[in-house]
Amino acid sequence: MACLFCRIVNGDIPAQVVYRGPEVTAFRDINPQAPIHVLVVPNRHIESISELGSADAALLGQLIEVANGLARQEGIAESGYRLVTNRGPDAGQTVAHLHFHLLGGRAMSWPPG
Ligand code: 5GP
Ligand code: ZN
Repeated sequence: MACLFCRIVNGDIPAQVVYRGPEVTAFRDINPQAPIHVLVVPNRHIESISELGSADAALLGQLIEVANGLARQEGIAESGYRLVTNRGPDAGQTVAHLHFHLLGGRAMSWPPG
């Protein structure tokens, strides 16, 4: 069975989709950790950032371009935002389909917990 985010990309599971393109989809996180919390994912199933390399430069560029565009659209480009991806248990990855969290709309602390 396809993974959760593959099913969201395919439209089999509903989500608040804010961007849909041939390579990249973005949708609102179901459990937002900030006023703006969007997940930006490749349409193709890739488990995590570990699977990416120089051969995937174009896809990575698109993921970042979509995130930057959404930051402008959501009104957080100037106030600031965080673009993070978790890989593996210690980082807290819970869905094994690469996703960037676009977080903004409030001040955030560093280092992360
Ligand atoms: P991770 O913990 O893997 O970095 O991030 C997974 C994210 O996916 C979490 O922030 C979680 O709230 C979100 N999430 C889990 N299930 C769903 C879902 O069914 N729909 C949406 N929109 N987000 C989900
Ligand atoms: Zn998947």
